[in-house]
Amino acid sequence: MGWNFATDPEWAEQLAWVADFVREECEPIDLIVKESHDLNDPVRQALIPPLQEIVKQRGLWATHLGPHLGGPGYGQVKLALLNEILGRSECAPIVFGSHAPDSGNSEILARYGTPELKQRYLEPLLDNRIISCFSMTEPQGGADPKVFTTSAVPDGDHWVINGEKWYSSFASMASFLIVMVVTDPEAPPYQRHSMFVVPAETPGITVLRDVGLGYQPLGGGGREGYVRYENVRVPADHMLGPRGGAFAVAQTRLGGGRIHHAMRTVGLVRRIFDMICERAVSRHTQGGRLADKQMVQEMVADSWMEIEAFRLLTLQTAWKIDQYDDYKAVRADISAVKAMMQKVLHDVSARALQIHGSLGTSHEMPFVQYLTESFVLGLADGPTEVHKVTLARLLLNGYSPAPDVFPSEHLLRLRAAAERKFADRLAGIPRD
Ligand SMILES: Cc1cc2nc3c(=O)[nH]c(=O)nc-3n(C[C@H](O)[C@H](O)[C@H](O)COP(=O)(O)OP(=O)(O)OC[C@H]3O[C@@H](n4cnc5c(N)ncnc54)[C@H](O)[C@@H]3O)c2cc1C
Repeated sequence: MGWNFATDPEWAEQLAWVADFVREECEPIDLIVKESHDLNDPVRQALIPPLQEIVKQRGLWATHLGPHLGGPGYGQVKLALLNEILGRSECAPIVFGSHAPDSGNSEILARYGTPELKQRYLEPLLDNRIISCFSMTEPQGGADPKVFTTSAVPDGDHWVINGEKWYSSFASMASFLIVMVVTDPEAPPYQRHSMFVVPAETPGITVLRDVGLGYQPLGGGGREGYVRYENVRVPADHMLGPRGGAFAVAQTRLGGGRIHHAMRTVGLVRRIFDMICERAVSRHTQGGRLADKQMVQEMVADSWMEIEAFRLLTLQTAWKIDQYDDYKAVRADISAVKAMMQKVLHDVSARALQIHGSLGTSHEMPFVQYLTESFVLGLADGPTEVHKVTLARLLLNGYSPAPDVFPSEHLLRLRAAAERKFADRLAGIPRD
């Protein structure tokens, strides 16, 4: 009987070091560096690479990678405990070499890239000497890939790509883009698309604009590329995976990516929870602390219960991934975690904003950003609604219809069965 919530002492020691390091070194950098992915920013380059060196020496660099990529293969439970600390800081994932979208893109390259592509892109990507972009969503829709129209047609030993992509994060800064395009329009819907590595310097790629999130100023700070591909020629060997196989290739990055986002979100909501509690015991109104008002106490209690439930589900899902070593076997769990993550971050951030009053709405506190982030989590890698539908479908698959018009748990049916079961023993005993 194995049922143990303890962390092994060696890993606990590493985690204690990480917690100090993130608090002392990474969290302050979040307030100085504008964009931790921007390798051309001298401020970023002065502050982040030295920390990355320390992490490498400590043996904690790119811990998400399996042994096939030179990683330690720690397993998802250890990663969960690590990532929930990294989630406290915006730059910590990049300081520890496990940042999106490069983490997922490196998995794709490792599995499907030619030796030349791996040498050119995978090695520097794993070392954060370059960054990458995943370019799939289109202006007319992202949740339903069947509406994608960006296409590639063969031309000699090249493919020629035309179309537009939307919200391609870091497109302006990336050295290469992994682009999903229609290559087989007549095939069944999920066999129409193929995936290509497109070097950023290829003629015909234009970033029309870098869209910013709602809390960023119009015309500055955006990193979500609106990208046009116009007669972009890529060599045939830049196709990743089989022709028509883009959906299978995309899954390589999504399973791991979703659970890692959730692990980091646990850390973020725990940090926000601390802010709620500090405010509750600091602020006085109507002759007492906010902490003494029952509705504030309800906010504290609800937040804690939701965070802990979310954390346990995330850890259990990580544990199942380690047990089964197959993302398909935990699709339901991952969808549940993915859907829950938006709600927990949203609800906890909203309470934190409320309890901080006017200050909470201001740009001097991070809550408006966190609220927006909750919606980002509910969209990127598939909308919450789609994950709930997936979860419900998978759960319902395990059920059969009732034997007749009454449910199988109908009390009259159950009692009749119980009477039959015990008929011999009850024979002759007077009953009401
Ligand atoms: C910050 C951020 C970064 C991103 N980075 C990338 C990236 O790097 N590369 C990339 O390719 N994409 C990226 N995306 C895009 C993301 O994948 C899409 O936003 C997502 O797939 C949804 O597509 P959409 O925005 O076009 O919304 P739509 O497809 O228009 O959907 C809008 C809404 O409709 C509802 N809806 C959709 N489908 C269903 C359904 N089946 N049932 C019920 N309701 C439904 C949901 O409420 C959904 O939010 C990013 C998004 C964000 C917010």
